[in-house]
Amino acid sequence: MRFRSTKSKSYSVSFKDAVLRCLPAEGGLYVPDQVMDIRQFFLYMDKDITFPELVSVVAPALLQGELNPFSASRVAESAFDFEPELIRLDKDFSILNLYNGPTGVFKDFGIAFLAAVMEELLKNSGQTMVLSAARGDTGVSMTHAFGGRKGTCAVLVYPSGPIFGLDPAAFVPNGGNILPIQVRGTADDCQRLIYETINDRKFAERYHVTSANAINPGRLLPQTFYYLYAFVKIKKSLPGDLVFSVPSGNFGNLIAGLYAWKFGMPVNGFIAAMNANNAFGDFIRGKAFTPRPLVSTCSPAMDVSVPANYERFASFYEEAPAVMRNMVYPASINDEQTLDAIERVWKKYHILIDPHTAVAFAAAEKTAAEHKWGGNVHTIILATGHPAKEAGTLQRATGQDIAIPEKLLALQKKVDPIAIIPPQLVSFEGAVASCF
Ligand SMILES: *Cc1c(COP(=O)(O)O)cnc(C)c1O
Repeated sequence: MRFRSTKSKSYSVSFKDAVLRCLPAEGGLYVPDQVMDIRQFFLYMDKDITFPELVSVVAPALLQGELNPFSASRVAESAFDFEPELIRLDKDFSILNLYNGPTGVFKDFGIAFLAAVMEELLKNSGQTMVLSAARGDTGVSMTHAFGGRKGTCAVLVYPSGPIFGLDPAAFVPNGGNILPIQVRGTADDCQRLIYETINDRKFAERYHVTSANAINPGRLLPQTFYYLYAFVKIKKSLPGDLVFSVPSGNFGNLIAGLYAWKFGMPVNGFIAAMNANNAFGDFIRGKAFTPRPLVSTCSPAMDVSVPANYERFASFYEEAPAVMRNMVYPASINDEQTLDAIERVWKKYHILIDPHTAVAFAAAEKTAAEHKWGGNVHTIILATGHPAKEAGTLQRATGQDIAIPEKLLALQKKVDPIAIIPPQLVSFEGAVASCF
């Protein structure tokens, strides 16, 4: 599979180049050029297959010539010491738990695969510097995934304020390959510095700079794998149609689902579950996208006003607007409905779901009622966050005290960055160069 920019169809690059450069020279974002139909590889898979086994089959099928089955198996084994978990609630709903990774969010899947596949692609041939904005727990996920990997140095870029959960033994001055840098500025300043550094072609080529943000196609691809995994687990017991409900903010997860469909996964639709930040729903219905001011909600990872994957989404819609309008169902859920869904799921199924997952659950119920799906459509709700990460909200909704697992407690420990710099490119590049 080759990759091209959303802005140009005239040329394409290999997966390796797309992962190691990650921003096309002509602007836009990398997307798969010709999407391959690989259904022959997973339609008849045994339902007892493990996640790494599935990845070792599916990844080489997609990346023919770049990742052979042996390499893919090595990548999958070293990336995934955690698995997705499908739980059937009843005839209408299942939950796909994606929060078993080191930081308790689904983003661990993309980051873990990216780090392992980079090491494999770089085997004995050079060094890459991976820049990542490290809001929230992304820095911990990066450290877990990249720590100790050959050929890579991961630079974590933080805005002003404390940082948490990192292991100083993994830092560059202590012989590791992780470099946390704090920028005296905002999260937007951090993003801007990453883009500016990648677009400073001379510097970027000298130090082989790429990014591990959601824009990297090496993070997007592994997110398609858990959709296929869920399909393989459930295909034999499907009463009728299959739909996925996806809690969405930057819309990376939903785009990955659409790619899984393009790869040949038989699925009838996707619910784009949004909280009060729902302007993107207009675009999904075929209207112009007009961003609105940000609203704070109880599902903060979905408080996004302009989705980072907007261009990838637009590129899907350009190709087949009518298909997309029939495939993707936008639904917006407010905080009250979210808390209500947490309580209902607890009472009815005795399962705790986090607020992001609850938005997707409520959106699935709402969409099923609107379209009178009852009994004919099975909806898999993606559980994107560990319930213990939002213990306070869950306590309020269910009255339950939530025990926080050890690994998630460690995320709350304060640490010091290696450098604190002003929000300017020269300062940033100077600090980054010290990584080598
Ligand atoms: C990031 C995140 C989301 C939103 O995912 P996108 O791919 O940005 O749409 C949803 N839930 C949780 C818990 C998250 O961390």
